[in-house]
Amino acid sequence: DYCKGGYHPVRIDDTFNEGAYVVVRKLGWGHFSTVWLARDVRKNRHVALKVVKSAPHYTETALDEIKLLQKIVDANPNAPGRKHVVELLDHFYHRGPNGTHVCMVFEVLGENLLSLIKRYNHRGIPAHLVKQIAKQVLMGLDYMHRECGIIHTDLKPENVLVCIDNVEEVVKNELLNDTRSTTTSYKKGHSIRITGSQPLSPPSSGSPSSQKPNNTSEQTKSPQAKENGEQPINGVGTDKNNYDETDGINRDDAESVCDTEMYSSPLTQDKLTNKPSTSTKWTTPDVINVKIADLGNACWVEHHFTNDIQTRQYRSPEVILGSKWGPSADIWSMACMAGSRYNKDDDHIAQITELLGLFPKHLALSELRHIHKLRHWKLADVLQEKYLLSRNEADFMADFLLPMLDLNPDKRSTARQSLQHPWHQIDDDKDNLGGGTSSTHMTGSCDSRDNRTHRTLNSIKQKSD
Ligand code: ADP
Ligand code: MG
Repeated sequence: DYCKGGYHPVRIDDTFNEGAYVVVRKLGWGHFSTVWLARDVRKNRHVALKVVKSAPHYTETALDEIKLLQKIVDANPNAPGRKHVVELLDHFYHRGPNGTHVCMVFEVLGENLLSLIKRYNHRGIPAHLVKQIAKQVLMGLDYMHRECGIIHTDLKPENVLVCIDNVEEVVKNELLNDTRSTTTSYKKGHSIRITGSQPLSPPSSGSPSSQKPNNTSEQTKSPQAKENGEQPINGVGTDKNNYDETDGINRDDAESVCDTEMYSSPLTQDKLTNKPSTSTKWTTPDVINVKIADLGNACWVEHHFTNDIQTRQYRSPEVILGSKWGPSADIWSMACMAGSRYNKDDDHIAQITELLGLFPKHLALSELRHIHKLRHWKLADVLQEKYLLSRNEADFMADFLLPMLDLNPDKRSTARQSLQHPWHQIDDDKDNLGGGTSSTHMTGSCDSRDNRTHRTLNSIKQKSD
């Protein structure tokens, strides 16, 4: 992908926009772009610099993304939900050997929800954080839908990023302590190892490769990582490579390049706050703020770019069946993050039907012809039996989720309505990691090779009754 029309070969210490930004290290990558931690020289702070592939298709999509992001910035600066959608700070073109690349500058955010879910996996994300996250995502969606007229269309844990409120401190700390950021001591193009993080396989600048590995396969792990027995505990790239089977389904033409040279990982507050992976005693943050990110697939309520939207596990029935869809498709995805996940379309529909009852006739009943046996399993029972919530908590959470899972997109509750549900008001005990017997959950797409974690990966501890 480091070819004409592809990624721009970025090097540490490269400058962008006439010296305004200096590259520190890689943060992540997507099918469209590579994303870099960079210093904003003029404002003396760090930013995330997204450098988009240069082919016309990518450029056009990026220009749409910028228009959508600008609407997010401008629509209503005072709206509370605006804080929960990623903020575009700057954009410009950058000319390089592979063409002219659209560049976008964002505030620096941390790891995504899926990697957070995995870090908490053995004990579960505490209930008070689950409620905060659900509330903030709904606030972000409410802002996008009502104030901006924007539909995200690819809402999933990978696209919800945790905020870092002390970015400069974290960067400074990382620069002092972490091998990955010894920017002065490693030479350009040399390998960088990040202990405890999965290498981000794809695009390493300056390593043009003709390999085109399967995105979901083992081979995307670097040989070093395998030798070192590193676990994929942390890092967006991991999730993308191993689990994100249909990220941006309208982008499937793009392939990533296997890279064993350069690793990247999200910025985390671990070293300053807690270390769940290495320490037996770790503290739970009181607050986790999150933002909805990656508007690369977003569209206008009044102007859809494609009907090929949403990642499978979070895809709404109306989209699967090719019916009319709108902002409520995001609400379905939101509820899926806190509900079940699905695999193949048939199975998916079957499970939706199991959970929610039969489809309305107008939703192309013929689509259901392949489905024979359906068990009926009420959502509240799933939450109780599978996720070990108490009866009360299960009923309460189901009451919150079910209106977001209305099969009829027009009747589905809106973000604003969901925010009014009393489930948000019940204050959970923060210190619930030890004794709780019940748990609620927030699901993320996970490795389909691992059935055990298939639907139950992301237990989130709830206060026991
Ligand atoms: P694409 O459109 O190519 O999929 P994304 O916007 O999803 O690009 O960004 C690719 C990756 O870069 C993300 O998965 C994440 O790891 C990282 N990233 C993106 N934006 C930020 C940000 N603001 N702060 C930190 N990391 C980011
Ligand atoms: Mg992306």
